[in-house]
Amino acid sequence: SNVVNKIAAGEVIERPASVVKELVENSVDSGATRIDVTIEQGGVELVRVTDNGCGIAADQLQLAVASHATSKIADADDLFRVGTLGFRGEALASIAEVSRLVLRSRPADCEAGAELEIVGGRAEPIRPVGCPAGTTIEIRQLFFNTPVRHKFMRTTQTEMGHITEAITRLALAAPHVHFSLTHGGRLVHDLPPVSNLRERIGSLFGAELADGLIEIESADEHGDQQIRLSGYVANPSHSRGNNRLQYLILNGRVIRDRSLQHALGEAYRGLLLTGRYPICFLNLELSPSLVDVNVHPTKLEVRFQDGGRIYSQLLGTLRSKFLSTDL
Ligand code: ADP
Ligand code: MG
Repeated sequence: SNVVNKIAAGEVIERPASVVKELVENSVDSGATRIDVTIEQGGVELVRVTDNGCGIAADQLQLAVASHATSKIADADDLFRVGTLGFRGEALASIAEVSRLVLRSRPADCEAGAELEIVGGRAEPIRPVGCPAGTTIEIRQLFFNTPVRHKFMRTTQTEMGHITEAITRLALAAPHVHFSLTHGGRLVHDLPPVSNLRERIGSLFGAELADGLIEIESADEHGDQQIRLSGYVANPSHSRGNNRLQYLILNGRVIRDRSLQHALGEAYRGLLLTGRYPICFLNLELSPSLVDVNVHPTKLEVRFQDGGRIYSQLLGTLRSKFLSTDL
């Protein structure tokens, strides 16, 4: 099989949680309203993701797992207006290279489904199968053919921690989707579809935390460019121990951004509350042209065209909210 793909795989697929993230992102992109994730042995033995999304037609299956094949971008310009979670078209190809992959899918308007199996990058002929509308992807024995990677797998518990975190992030970014996570036959998370972020926070972290959150909202407009900030922060004067819950959702994707973390810290410091971890769940919506999400292969980090402007908006919004709230 292909060396370039194997290298690419290492870049995107670090551990079972990366597989979960890539597969679930595809399910979200497919318009699914229900996504079920099944794990065996921390994902090293099995990661299965089933969705009720748009499905893949039989004659497109092969293409879906081909390197740099994506149905989500028509031309290079589209790279700058990315609206879906995926767009590089390398996740499935990379995963297929380092696992035993079975892809089963049926678009709702097709009578028969189709199945494609790939072992270590080598595809078997496509077979017709009966299956519900939507897509199921099973990844077995991740890294079975890359011993070095395999060696870096940690305990089931550690890998499961990363998977749970991946699901948490994806679920926060898509509250309208029903998610479930099952490990070793045990249901770990069942997250019913809800209409807003606060309810999803409640399902994930408990009603007590969710109910105590302070809602923030602001908009910054320049011509036809808009930066909308909304979401929730914990009441800074309620200590929450060392629970580090900080999530920033940018245009539907949870990202990591140090400068925004810093703004949060600043707002708390203004209240002379140091040494605490500010809890926040923030939604940032801005025109895709103001941000480059293609910086990092896993899309965890982004580059803002004007990071300072976003920093100021967040800090300003938090400060005025804290000033006007009886903390
Ligand atoms: P990307 O998401 O960057 O396009 P992927 O390798 O993750 O690349 O997926 C390749 C293609 O396979 C997608 O563009 C999509 O057309 C198809 N695909 C993958 N998973 C699903 C799914 N769950 N439902 C529908 N289509 C899917
Ligand atoms: Mg993808």
